[in-house]
Amino acid sequence: MTDFKIEKREQLKEKPKGEALGFGRFFTDYMFSMDYTEDKGWHDASIVPYQNIEMSPASQSIHYGQSVFEGLKAYRTAEGVQLFRPDQNFKRINQSLARLDMPQIDEALALEGLKELVNLEADWVPTEPGQSLYIRPFVFATEPFLGVRPANQYKFLIILSPVGAYYGDGQLQPTKIYVEDEYVRAVRGGVGFAKVAGNYAASLLAQSKAAKLGYDQVLWLDGVEQKYVEEVGSMNIFFVYGNKLVTPALNGSILPGITRQSILELGQSLGYEVEERKISVDEVFDDAKSGKITEIFGSGTAVVVSPVGEIKYKEEVAVINEYQTGDVTNKLYTAYTAIQNGTAEDKFGWTVKVSE
Ligand SMILES: *Cc1c(COP(=O)(O)O)cnc(C)c1O
Repeated sequence: MTDFKIEKREQLKEKPKGEALGFGRFFTDYMFSMDYTEDKGWHDASIVPYQNIEMSPASQSIHYGQSVFEGLKAYRTAEGVQLFRPDQNFKRINQSLARLDMPQIDEALALEGLKELVNLEADWVPTEPGQSLYIRPFVFATEPFLGVRPANQYKFLIILSPVGAYYGDGQLQPTKIYVEDEYVRAVRGGVGFAKVAGNYAASLLAQSKAAKLGYDQVLWLDGVEQKYVEEVGSMNIFFVYGNKLVTPALNGSILPGITRQSILELGQSLGYEVEERKISVDEVFDDAKSGKITEIFGSGTAVVVSPVGEIKYKEEVAVINEYQTGDVTNKLYTAYTAIQNGTAEDKFGWTVKVSE
């Protein structure tokens, strides 16, 4: 293991006890940090106290949005703490960085830093079923300069946040989704495939609109014809046709979810047929109404899978599986979380142990 410099803090924080953890409200004692300058490249990789950072009001990320992030989790198992496919997150952050003309990070070094950080913070990994330690690696431009060009100074941080079980009682809750036909999230040639902060800024208004109408999530259509289904909220989407899982093919504007990819691989191993292709919203409604589509679910790190009970598009409403979580969704959820929690054998080699 690489030995990172660790700057110890004098006093550790009080860990949340009993109160609802929720999502992203509490932060641990330490974070991983490194800096980039043109002359030195990435340097000063170290573990430091979680603290406020000082930066210039002219920092380029604030003005022009050079800011990318990742999200993954650490899980408590009977043997210790493990990560789920962290290599994929660092691979993807480099794809996001490349798209915003930001400098690449050393994926192996970042993974070593993460393992050491999580190992140091192992006591922060919650112990109740469904709880986990959410991990947020991110990179942003810090150079103080108002000219428009790629910055020459950046910061990479990894912060950690203990999070509650998404499904409080362990039962998956079907959601209602609203097909957005006015705003779009991303277009081909743009930054939709990259996990960049700006994509989220662009999505908030539609999310608020859907919420006002009583819907939980937005279903995004393609940015060109507004005809093909792309993703749902910040999740990828799957349509279950009996024994077949169908998800929109990656096209440059869809975020290539690690959960999406893992569900495709896990689904196949469980005997489902899988298909990645274009799927239009009209087809979804026809097939939902005729009963060919038996279940719909979103996929993402935060929830693993999120069943959909209703979709609305213009004046049409389709109810899916009578607002119940379907068998396929449940089966995938159970198999997936068992690998994460270490209660099932990981024959894919997806998990990475950080402590004994
Ligand atoms: C992060 C994200 C996802 C899900 O990706 P996972 O790697 O599965 O967590 C899907 N869509 C968007 C827009 C995202 O930002």
